[in-house]
Amino acid sequence: MKTGCIDMHCDTLMKAYFDHHDDLYERPGQIDFKRMSEAGAMAQFFAIYMPTKEFIGQMGLSGDFEDDEYIARCSEIFETSIKAHPDVAAKACTARDIRANFSKGLVSGVLAMEDGRAVGGKFDNIKAYYDLGVRALSLTWNFENCFGFPNSDDLVDMMKGLKPFGKEAIQYMQELGMLVDVSHLSDGGFYDVASICTKPFVATHSNARSLSPHRRNLKDDQLRLLAKAGGVTGLNVCPAFLNADIKDKNSRISEMAKHVRYIADLAGTDTIAMGSDFDGTTGIFEMEDCTQLYKLADALKKQGFTEAELDKFFSGNVLRVMDEAVK
Ligand SMILES: [Zn+2]
Repeated sequence: MKTGCIDMHCDTLMKAYFDHHDDLYERPGQIDFKRMSEAGAMAQFFAIYMPTKEFIGQMGLSGDFEDDEYIARCSEIFETSIKAHPDVAAKACTARDIRANFSKGLVSGVLAMEDGRAVGGKFDNIKAYYDLGVRALSLTWNFENCFGFPNSDDLVDMMKGLKPFGKEAIQYMQELGMLVDVSHLSDGGFYDVASICTKPFVATHSNARSLSPHRRNLKDDQLRLLAKAGGVTGLNVCPAFLNADIKDKNSRISEMAKHVRYIADLAGTDTIAMGSDFDGTTGIFEMEDCTQLYKLADALKKQGFTEAELDKFFSGNVLRVMDEAVK
């Protein structure tokens, strides 16, 4: 079964940069254009994840690692892979691009960025990333930056809001037509985004905190605010964000289906989409890669989701949000 899926988050580009398997058409790991095409996928958001100093050290790279060079190289990997396989993949910035590519039998790649640290407090940098094709920006990863503060187990830190630059920057991003992504952000930052944004915003890869108590997941009131804004959250298949016991290493389809059901019941079927986090997490995966989304589709069907609801979950909701908030 082909799901026509739009997946809002993966770390495949970061993997491709570090493991030098830098043709996104065919590479190890959980996502490549070849398998996306075989699975009938519609689009994949490829995040330029900004690696931490520790991670860079583990990769044996020196301390003079430059963010700008890294971003340029990730963008080059993305562009080169697409140009080399024009019969399979195409770049997309908007929902219209994704629909046009899909109608020609092409899978779409959409550039995104995870961690706004490279923005460095400059609007010009946001514009430069927009010009590169970046259409979704996770304001933070797990560290403070010019936008604000990350999710935290410390309740005081968790309630820290956006910085003055962050508050202005998200308005600028929405003017430009770039999605504001709250995955990884502090709860205080989330509430600021919800009160400031005038267009739908997204959590590209976060689940329900009521089912899995990880601080990266969204609370019930946050899911309702997301729904009110017309936004979506992308279902993350990482075990720590799925299971009631966050130490359980199994990524089970049944748990994924529970989160989809819970979010749909609480915030509506318009509020849930896919945000796998493939190539960015570890665990024992029942859904092993991008060819196996049909397993989740089957489980959701058994749970009583209609074909129309499945279409919204796998692609329609993201297309709607992009129609409203991406240019
Ligand atoms: Zn992430």
